[in-house]
Amino acid sequence: MRLPGGLITAGQLRALARLAAEMGDGRAELTSRANVQLRALPAGAAAPLTAGLAAAGLLPSLDHDRVRNILASPLAGLDGGPGLTPVVAALDAGLCARPRLAQLSGRFLFAIDDGRGDVARLGADIVATLQAGAASVNGLAVTAPAVVTLMLAFAEAFLDDRAAHGSAAWRIADLPGGADRIRATVARQLDLVPAIPVPAATSAPAATRPVGIIGRHGVLLAPLGRLAAAQLDWLADQVRGRPARITPWRGVVLPDLADPPATLRAAADLGFGVDARSPWLRVTACAGQPGCASALADVQADAASFARRWPGRIVHLSGCARHCGRPAATEIDVTASSEGYQIARV
Ligand code: SF4
Repeated sequence: MRLPGGLITAGQLRALARLAAEMGDGRAELTSRANVQLRALPAGAAAPLTAGLAAAGLLPSLDHDRVRNILASPLAGLDGGPGLTPVVAALDAGLCARPRLAQLSGRFLFAIDDGRGDVARLGADIVATLQAGAASVNGLAVTAPAVVTLMLAFAEAFLDDRAAHGSAAWRIADLPGGADRIRATVARQLDLVPAIPVPAATSAPAATRPVGIIGRHGVLLAPLGRLAAAQLDWLADQVRGRPARITPWRGVVLPDLADPPATLRAAADLGFGVDARSPWLRVTACAGQPGCASALADVQADAASFARRWPGRIVHLSGCARHCGRPAATEIDVTASSEGYQIARV
């Protein structure tokens, strides 16, 4: 399920809890694109699941569903700086309104950063940065109201460039010279001047991923990015007005809490990570056994013991050599093989 900007309402959290319990394995998995997955669905689940997701407002366009990959700074508008929710909504609506953009691949990624650099460096194809008085998209300076128009122009220009070169590339980076060529095309079309350096792809600085209480808001970490149905329902109970926000590092932001310390104590009792000492800030794992047919080990069950071996290090466990979801900043790479775990220091 795509959650543009990671935004999810109380009703949508409850719908996911119900669908996970009734059709899946009772859990929802958060992804590095701030999306959500349900696993272990039985044959025949497609129709009732689609109906349930649509009823919850999670499927605004079936044609465009796989291309609605939009990251946004999770704390934008909560701890200073501009709010990004209207920009996310406008980009999502603009995507869904253009039939041609359904041709983008499910790997194509948009990012909207509020200037702190937390999602600008995650390797998105189209990166917008909005700060007070300044905005840019892929290196083109623009006024804030024009950001969405420019992001959509980049997406269209990618499809044009791909077609002109007879390519089936999924990402701008897959087109040799594509980033510069597409930027020049869009600049020419809209009479803009390339002026802003494009952030290099890397992981977000740790300082941009706070955990715990931020003003009146709470930032929680989901253990290995998994949320049980009961945790989803509890999160829904905490949402007061503004939606919760799933983060690309598998956490949940709860805005506008009535009593932040009490909420965090309750969250800790439910197994959430609530401070920077939590292993769930640095340890991730793929689905592994039994959820993935390719897996050679139950990596989720083994993750906690590996986390204790290397405190403070960024550790990722993979059930096979495909390394699904491995963060770019991984320091200890643990991969299951037919002969046990292979450990590499990156
Ligand atoms: S890394 Fe391998 S085991 Fe893990 S989810 Fe991907 S395919 Fe499955």
